[in-house]
Amino acid sequence: MTSLALGVDIGGTKIAFALVDRSGHVHVDHRIPTLPAEGVSAVFDRMADGARTVLRQADQPIVGIGVGSPGIINPVSGVCQHSVNLGWTDVPIRDELRRRLALDVPVVVHHDTNAGAVGEWVFGAARGEAHFVYLAIGTGLGMGAVIENRLLLGRNFMAMEFGHVSLDPNGRLCPCGTRGCGEMYISGVGLLAGFRDHAPHFPDSPLAHQPDTTVNDIVAALYAGDPLALAIGNEAADKLTAISAYCAGILSPGLFIIGGGLGLALYDWLLPRLEDGIRTRTLPGTHDHLRFARSQVTASAAGAAALVWQL
Ligand SMILES: [Zn+2]
Repeated sequence: MTSLALGVDIGGTKIAFALVDRSGHVHVDHRIPTLPAEGVSAVFDRMADGARTVLRQADQPIVGIGVGSPGIINPVSGVCQHSVNLGWTDVPIRDELRRRLALDVPVVVHHDTNAGAVGEWVFGAARGEAHFVYLAIGTGLGMGAVIENRLLLGRNFMAMEFGHVSLDPNGRLCPCGTRGCGEMYISGVGLLAGFRDHAPHFPDSPLAHQPDTTVNDIVAALYAGDPLALAIGNEAADKLTAISAYCAGILSPGLFIIGGGLGLALYDWLLPRLEDGIRTRTLPGTHDHLRFARSQVTASAAGAAALVWQL
């Protein structure tokens, strides 16, 4: 007899559910739209319905519920203090869910990127690792870190919020108001901003003349060697290398895990650049034992379920 955890990943457009066992195997999954404009109560009513739908299919005992949410999350109180994506301020995720489900199991809430990091720790690329950094490269850039077998949280639960640290005070303007944020280079938003900046300088690039260019177009052109895509990609790789070098210098991890849809798509292209770049930017003692790996837990709700076992 094994046991199962329910993972819930709250996104801006959808909520994903997964019933997962201790080895990371997903037994049941389910998705519903988030529809945050309907208000907090309506979202939690539907979330509880979705959870019940999944829990009814459980053929083994449920040991807990793990929830990943965007925004600033207080994991001690289970409150989402603020989320731009969801339009939430001080929403008690843990208590709202616990009250509706009335189940006598722990409910653990963390930032979604931290849930992703814990997922890798429990049943992914970071199994057995005491020191690692997780990078989720998607529409934005999220990061989490486990050091000395502890998930880093920080005073305001904002540890590893590196996507919005300026790497260049004269750099690209970010919607957060700062210039040169890492997210403005190495993320979906960043690649598209790079396309807008660089396209006028590459009139001969096929990519420059493609209508309605998407992130996928840029990635495909990068692997095809398009000069415009290379200019965008090199800039992104340089910023990601800088972020990785800072993290290596500060945290001394043994492993960087690259995840997120875009991170996985770019992985083969980025890897040699990151490996070379980090060697030229840090001391041998800092990078000698450092490795990069691709994320293995691709279902965000499975990462959330892992919270039950690790924290
Ligand atoms: Zn920013």
